[in-house]
Amino acid sequence: MKSIFTKMLSLTLTIVMVFSVQNLCLAQESEEATKSAIIKEKVQALLDKMSIEEKVGQMTQVNLNVILDGGYNNTDGSIDTVLLKEAVVDYKVGSILNAINNPYSVDKWHEIITKILDQSKNTPNQIPVLYGIDAIHGANYTSESTLFPHNIGIAATRNPSIAKEGAKITALEVRASGIRWNFDPVLDIGRQPLWPRFPETYGEDPYMIKTMAVATVEGYEEDGLNSTTSVASTMKHYVGYSHPRTGKDRTPAYIPDIELREYHLPQFQAAIDAGASTIMINSGSVNNIPVHANRHLLVDILRTEMGFEGLAVSDWEDIIRLHTKHRVAETPKEAVRIAVMAGIDMSMVPHDYSFFELLVELVKEGAVPMSRIDEAVGRILTLKFRTGLFDNPYPETEAIANFGKPEFKEAALKAARESITLLKNTDNILPLARGKKILVAGPGAKSVTSLNGAWSYTWQGDNEDLYPSSYKTIYQAIVEKAGKDNVVSTSYTNFERKENYQVDPLIEAAKKVDYIILCLGENAYAESPGVIDDLTLDARQLKLAKAAYSTGKPVIIILTEGRPRIISDIEQDAKGILQAYWPGSQGGPAIADVIYGDYNPSGKLPYTYPKYTGSIVMYDYKYSELLQELAPGSLTETGYQPQWPFGFGLSYTTFEYSDITLSSEELKGNDSIEVSITVKNTGDKDGDIAIDLFTRDLFASIVPSMRRLRAFTKVLLKKGESKTITFQLTKEDLAFAKDGTTFITEEGDFEVMIEDKVAKFRYVE
Ligand code: BGC
Repeated sequence: MKSIFTKMLSLTLTIVMVFSVQNLCLAQESEEATKSAIIKEKVQALLDKMSIEEKVGQMTQVNLNVILDGGYNNTDGSIDTVLLKEAVVDYKVGSILNAINNPYSVDKWHEIITKILDQSKNTPNQIPVLYGIDAIHGANYTSESTLFPHNIGIAATRNPSIAKEGAKITALEVRASGIRWNFDPVLDIGRQPLWPRFPETYGEDPYMIKTMAVATVEGYEEDGLNSTTSVASTMKHYVGYSHPRTGKDRTPAYIPDIELREYHLPQFQAAIDAGASTIMINSGSVNNIPVHANRHLLVDILRTEMGFEGLAVSDWEDIIRLHTKHRVAETPKEAVRIAVMAGIDMSMVPHDYSFFELLVELVKEGAVPMSRIDEAVGRILTLKFRTGLFDNPYPETEAIANFGKPEFKEAALKAARESITLLKNTDNILPLARGKKILVAGPGAKSVTSLNGAWSYTWQGDNEDLYPSSYKTIYQAIVEKAGKDNVVSTSYTNFERKENYQVDPLIEAAKKVDYIILCLGENAYAESPGVIDDLTLDARQLKLAKAAYSTGKPVIIILTEGRPRIISDIEQDAKGILQAYWPGSQGGPAIADVIYGDYNPSGKLPYTYPKYTGSIVMYDYKYSELLQELAPGSLTETGYQPQWPFGFGLSYTTFEYSDITLSSEELKGNDSIEVSITVKNTGDKDGDIAIDLFTRDLFASIVPSMRRLRAFTKVLLKKGESKTITFQLTKEDLAFAKDGTTFITEEGDFEVMIEDKVAKFRYVE
């Protein structure tokens, strides 16, 4: 028993520690405030010295092709010095972005960026150019970098620490490449599965996105932007890009205010609060107003209400497109005026200097006030100070050591493993025993492009030749596990190669094996080239699956796909189905680990996997969406019958859940309520388990959802082990958007749900 003295000592120590932590926080805050004040002064001093041209130049961002030898035909990153001088000295551009055609080595990046910065010295105030890049799932434009699963897979892990670690490693490898600004994370919500950027989202739920967004922004920025371990992050694409009515990329979205508040804005607010430095604007229109022209969204909501103080960059060519595409500006010049006055700070022009010329004219004519220019340039310069460019703009040689560390591969493997979601496992066909004969077939078997997807060494990610030779295909990884003599394949490198869809060789090869592993899904694509007219998996692949079934051999389907392509026609006859999303550099080994039981799958779907193209219903449906009148006058609750629901994912072990216990039957005002559940691993294998917690507002003043995700966690349970998991809920967790401006929690009864367990409590004000 502890003596009184020991208790008092420990109490005193606790108090001292609490005070020390508080003091430390206060000290850090005041240090930050001092730093900000100093930067503010420096920015003002610089603004006072700058000409209109210099200021407008800062607001101009051009693509790398503009300064490369041969422009878009360039393959070696060599710079045309005349073009470089034109960009940096004559037009004084503030920023350059992108890689063209192929990735560059760390050394090549250093060379490119050094040349650009050398030119910055020849400008009146020697303001360094800030380089920006899309490092979406790793430093994907640097050769030999570590590629992680796309966000859709990260959400399936239900493990924010994986998101954070992936962002930290990405920051290290991007910064090692001499680059300090990353156009990531994507915070668009994935509720339109046709949309080709669905794989870049964290899925269909805003709480999920919010949680992963915070982890990612912290991973990128928490060390401080002037540290060699950080990059400035970019929340994108503000706001509503992911919700085109037709599902086609960059087509109009129509989003009512309550939906905007409920599903599209919270993740941006969370990322702003977590310290995200920049934001990129949605290139589409919302409610027929292009977001690049929407001052209400860009200033009233983003700045005044949400408190964002960082830099707002346009998306690709999206200022001029107010004229050429959206047709809300009669001339290119009017497009520039509208966008700048709406609140865009930097224009990703990206191919010419029209923005520069037109904006200089507009300022000289007084159509754009200097105050707006100073505001925009002030934000750009602030970022340049914060990223340390004014101290040392050059690639930091000491950061090179942070590239390609062996542990990064482990992190990518862990992320890929935890993302893989076991969707079907009839008769526990998986994991496979070693020593069995396997046929590995299908277009994805020998492809690294379909493992890595978009933004992988090129924008489209579909060039097999540009991937490091160390990346293994599913076939190679299975051979490593099962031994060469046990594995045959009828597949070829290159997803699209027509031989990959021939059924006869598959039927023939199947005669000599015990199992068929059929690798289906989608090849890499990004943005508009990924638009599809049909969510169903393509006919050639369905035919391949049917041919595989006709052999009578058990078939296990491995899906590598960015979107949930409909497979209801072939699902029934498959014995096993694994969803691997686009798992990245370690996707092949991770899939093989799951197939052979070296990792027990724990991924959970971050979206609803639809069964039919005409039945796209999200998990948080309304009761009226659940009810169906299949026969006149008779109602059934059958409206949500997807192929697999949100949160679905099997394991090789079994888990048993206790009833839910609540700390109280009433949640009062600003108090919190504790929700506890005990989970036991009742099977014979250790396993990670992801646990989703949902709530339901039984009755509300506007139609409530039947379920909303409010919390999730992941725990490892050894076989036989039990753990009690406790979540805290507050009234904020139960709130909903009542109209275009208010979030409220209404008094009344709520249910809390974990798996099939339900408990009820009442919220009182
Ligand atoms: C995309 C952005 C990207 C930009 C620069 C645009 O087409 O929408 O997400 O950051 O290109 O590559």
